[in-house]
Formats: sequence, C-alpha cells, structure tokens
Amino acid sequence: MSRASTQDARTTCPYCGVGCGVRAEMQQGRIVGVEGDTEHPANHGRLCVKGSALHETLGEQGRLTQPRLDGAEVDWDTALDAVAGRLAETQRQHGPGAVAGYLSGQLLTEDYYVANKLFKGFLGTPHLDTNSRLCMASAVAAYKRSLGADAVPCNYEDLEDAELVVLAGSNLAWNHPVLFQRLRVAKTRNPLLRVVVIDPRVTDTCELADLYLGVRPGSDARLFTGLLAWMAARGKLDRVYLERHTQGLEETLAEARQDDVSIEAIAADCDVDPERLETFFYWFASQLHVVTLYSQGINQSSSGTDKCQAIINCHLAGGKIGLPGAGPFSITGQPNAMGGREVGGLANQLAAHMDYQSPGALDRVTRFWSTDSLVPRLPEGPGHKAVELFEAIERGEIRAVWIMATNPTVSLPEAHRVRAALANCPLVIVSECMADTDLLEVADIVLPASGWSEKDGTVTNSERRISRQRGLMAPPGEARHDWWIISEVARRLGFGEAFDYGHPADIFVEHARLSGFENEGEGRRCFDISALAGLDRQGYDALAPIQWPVTRQAPRGTPRLFEDGHFATPDGRARLLPVSPRGPVQALGERRRFRLNTGRVRDQWHTMTRTARAPRLMNHRSEPFIEVHPEDARELGLADQALARLEGEGGDYRGRVRISPAQRRGELFVPIHWSDRFSASALAGALLASHVDPLSGQPESKHGAVALAAL
Ligand code: SF4
Repeated sequence: MSRASTQDARTTCPYCGVGCGVRAEMQQGRIVGVEGDTEHPANHGRLCVKGSALHETLGEQGRLTQPRLDGAEVDWDTALDAVAGRLAETQRQHGPGAVAGYLSGQLLTEDYYVANKLFKGFLGTPHLDTNSRLCMASAVAAYKRSLGADAVPCNYEDLEDAELVVLAGSNLAWNHPVLFQRLRVAKTRNPLLRVVVIDPRVTDTCELADLYLGVRPGSDARLFTGLLAWMAARGKLDRVYLERHTQGLEETLAEARQDDVSIEAIAADCDVDPERLETFFYWFASQLHVVTLYSQGINQSSSGTDKCQAIINCHLAGGKIGLPGAGPFSITGQPNAMGGREVGGLANQLAAHMDYQSPGALDRVTRFWSTDSLVPRLPEGPGHKAVELFEAIERGEIRAVWIMATNPTVSLPEAHRVRAALANCPLVIVSECMADTDLLEVADIVLPASGWSEKDGTVTNSERRISRQRGLMAPPGEARHDWWIISEVARRLGFGEAFDYGHPADIFVEHARLSGFENEGEGRRCFDISALAGLDRQGYDALAPIQWPVTRQAPRGTPRLFEDGHFATPDGRARLLPVSPRGPVQALGERRRFRLNTGRVRDQWHTMTRTARAPRLMNHRSEPFIEVHPEDARELGLADQALARLEGEGGDYRGRVRISPAQRRGELFVPIHWSDRFSASALAGALLASHVDPLSGQPESKHGAVALAAL
C-alpha cells in the first residue's frame, strides 16, 4: 500500500498488549489499508497477521447503530434517560452497592477513567471491575506486594539486550507476534542470546528455544522456588544487591527449602528431564542480563500471584532487575489492560494507582473530584472482583450491571451460569459495537458504541507506553463514544458538573493531573504522568508514544524502573516473599481424567466479533478444535478431524480432534474464541470451574478437568 497521506492517520492496533503503532491509508474518509508505523517504538513498522488485516474488519455491516430499550429501537435521549432512571431507582430501593459495572481492556483510558469516576465516585458503588482481571491480575498483585507498585520494570528493548530470555507460560509467537519477531531478529543479531521456553505445550514459540521445558501444568512455582534454592546452594545469589535493596531473603529461602531441593526431586515434581532443568538453572544463575517474560500461563491460576512472586524472587536474588536486559516482565494480553489499571479500573483500586488502603487516598480523591456543588461519595473499601461480581448478581445482591466492551457470557468460567445470572438480573445495560453477540440476548438496554478507528483516546501497552488511538472515521448510525455515553448518564443523574467533558483530551488532562495530585507515596510516584497535564487539544492530538512515569524530572518518559535499586515500597526495599507451591484446585478424577488447557489461536481475537469479519483470518483455524496427544487419541479411538465432545464442570464442548504430539499425554487444549453463536456447544468457558487466586481474584482458566469422548 502507499504510505498514509496525513499525520492524523497514525493510530495503535486494538488487539494485544504489544501495542503496535499503525499507519492507516485513508481514502474519502475510509481506511483502505494499514501498515506498521516505522516510528512507533513498540513495533518499528512491523505488524502481525491480525494487525495487517485491520482494514478488512471494518464496515457498517453487523454493527449496532441504534440504542435499544427492552427490545425496541429508541433514540439516545430515551435510552440515556432509561439508564439513569433505572440505575437511580435501583440504588434508591437497594442501596449503592446494588449497582455494578464491568469494563474491558478494550476500552480506552479516557473511557475507563470516566466509568471509574461515575461508579466509584458518584454512584458510590465499589463494584466496578474489568475483564483485565482474567488477564493479569496475578501479575499486578505480585508486583505490588514485592516491588511496592503495579509497575512493570522492563521495556521491549530489554528483550533484545538480554543474554537470556525465559518465556514462561507465554506462546509469544501466537499471542504477541511482533515481540516474537523482535526476539527472532535479536537472536539473529546476537547468537549468544539464549531463549528458554517453559510451557506444557510445544508451541510455535519453541522455534526460538535453545532449551524447552515441557513442565507439568501448574508446577511453575515449584520450578522457580527450586531455582532460588539451587542458586543459594551454589553461591549464585547477589548478596550485595540483596543486602542493599531487598528484605525477606531468609524466610523465602527457608520456605523454598521445605521441599526437597535436589534437581531430581524438582524435576520429578515438574515432570521434566533433570539435566535440562539443571541446564536452565545454570543459565539463569550465571547470567546477569536475564528477562523472564510471563503471561497467562502463569497468571491464570489459583496460585498465580505466588507463581509471579516466585519468578520475581529469583530476579531479586540475583540482582537481575533494573538493568538493561534484565527483569521480571509480565506481558498483558489486551491492548489497554494497563491503561485500565492506571485509572483504577480494578475493583480493589480506587483511582490513579491508589488503593482504598493507601494513606489519605479516599480524602484525596474526594477533594480532587469535588466541584463547587458536588462532593463524591466514594465507597469505603474494595468491591467484588470479576468472578465474585457475577456471583453477587446470581445471588440477587447486585441488581443492575452495566457491561462495556466485553462479553462475560463467553469469557468467564462457568459461562452458562454467568449467562443465567444475567438473564435473572433485573437490569442489564450493555455498551457494545456489534449487533449480534450472545450477551445482547440478556440485555435490557443496549447502547451502540464506537469502535477502533472511530474512538479517540489513549492506550498503554505492556511496557508502560502510552499511545494514541485516533478517531479516523465517523461511527456508523447512532453509535457514540463510551466516554460520551457515560458522561451523558452522569449528567442525567445530576452529576453533570463533574462530567463536563467536551473531548477526550479534557479527560486525559484530568487523569494526568490526578496522577500527580498530592503525590507523595512511593507507589504512586511510579505512575505519575503529571507532566502531560498541560497538554492542550493540539498537543494531545500530536502526543507521541511515551512511557510512564512522565514528570518534570523525566519529561520524555521512563524506559526502565528501579535502576537505582530504590523500589516503590515505604522503605524503598523490594520484598522477597515465601512461596509454597500448590497445584491446580480442580482435581482429575476417574471420569474427568484429562487436564484442560485453554488459550488463543494466532489469528483470532477474543470472541471474534472483529477478526471473524476478515476471511483470511479464518483460514488459520476455521472451527473449534480439541488438541489431543496421539496416544490418548489412539486409546479412545479418535481419528484426526473426527468430532469429539468434552464434558467439564459447567457444560459441554464439541470440536474437531487435532491430533498433536505438541500436547502432553493426558492433557488437552481448546481455543477460547468460539461460542454457541458460531457453533453449537463450543464454549470453552463452560468447561471451567470458577476457582480463583485468593489474592488476585484471577480465575484458573488454564486448568480444567474434563472427560473426552467421540461424538
Ligand atoms: Fe496488533 Fe499485537 Fe499484532 Fe501488534 S502484535 S499488530 S498489537 S495484534
């Protein structure tokens, strides 16, 4: 394609957490082609298959273009009056906590900010959570308790500067393809760069692996606590770094030594070859510049926080953090999972990286959001996290929920139960781009929202880089921007003075001001973008990608955190914390004897509302499937491509058998994208139980127990 003609045609990809810059070729107000933005630091001009097909997913067909109220199309005034009136009535009858919101890592930061302000600040309910809970909540919890803040220390260049890159629970080749491309190039340029892949499945990511450890699912914490003990036993700890910058080593080591720390015992527990395991331990311990990149394979677990902690412990113990090419690096799945966290989109957060427990936070935010005539009524403590939130709806405690840009009837565990809970909920409001989703069937009020290429705002990628997503085309029909919809509802509820926004730039500037408002806390200083609070609309439009914090001292942003060994804890020391490894909650039985793993496929995104519109993206995997080890298939008499059925905790799943030696014996893999809308009984979420990590609330979506049989 020819190069895009104007500066305004620069935007950011709406899919994964890599956050690639995109240049859109415009013709007569339409995007007719895309290419990677060579000036964007995340991708330097690269795009993956999904990103390069973005223009093929656009068009008005299938879009929601008119608000709906109780099944009938209505105008905006009628719909917004109904939303405001019914929310207010619910709260009048049942109290502030009877209302909830459920957001999405697909929303822009500005949408997120306004939603958080309305729900927590002015509706006074703590029950506002986000589908980011399903993605990286465990990584957040571990960063906070260990480093003092939800602050990813690394950046993408660290992958290229490392001597060793450990990919744990990450199929980078499929889920963050441009980072995988960057790593491939880095390996070509630097033959000494080694890559270790730790994953129960042999994925395409193994193409770059110098060493592959096909671990038993759920054994990651055992592997990393074993590594810590191994390093200690061989004098591989960085005692000077530990002494100066951390605390908690002795208790953590004592806990690690509760288990047999011989290589043979660790290898047996993780079900890997002892020699390969020791090679990994040796490589990790003997290199300073090590990045451990981890993703949903670590996070989506009932002990996800501990697994992340076990990784962080090893990095702190070796002083492998705060250096070029070193650090524990959680990579997010969604385009704006981090932006949502910045504004307080998780139920345990208040706003701008402040928790309810942060000293003075309630008072500070109350004063910041107050206007001449309005005082916010912030809740006193955290609300329900995603799984709990829908359980509270099921129990009838939450009687009104507003869901934006996500579909919990597909993505949450026990998805059929979630759907039934919503069907019985007195008020379900859904803001959505597409006209045909499973969720809309249970919605009382449907609000047509603008989508990628129409929305205008910012997103933050996995390396803390804020980038602009730009509105290049007009939304179809009556579709409107989320921030506008929320602000209009707020106005009808009597809060207009606090939601007097005319442009997303107004919201971003307020968000930037709050990030620096009375910002004395160490944890909050990490996230301070107050140097951007002076942007006018022109400056906002032209905002170049920049990594937080962005302060007067660091006006060009901050590529790497904790370089001085000073962490975001009150005493500046990072915490090593004891980890006691434990396996998945759901046990295998005689009947449900297969361990289920779930995940994405390379060319699809979430519930496929966008990617299914591009025919070429359907070529890679065109229908739901079940990946089965050859021996298991033989034992059950299953032929490749035959139809088979899984039966799990919450329902059934049907798909075609893909016989694959990439699977371990007794383990299966199914994709998360399909739902009953595409294919009868192809809902992976229905197979999973609602077990969550006790600290992060993240569901154990990587572990189910299922029965497998031919259809
Ligand atoms: Fe989009 Fe992720 Fe692909 Fe980049 S790697 S183009 S952000 S899907």
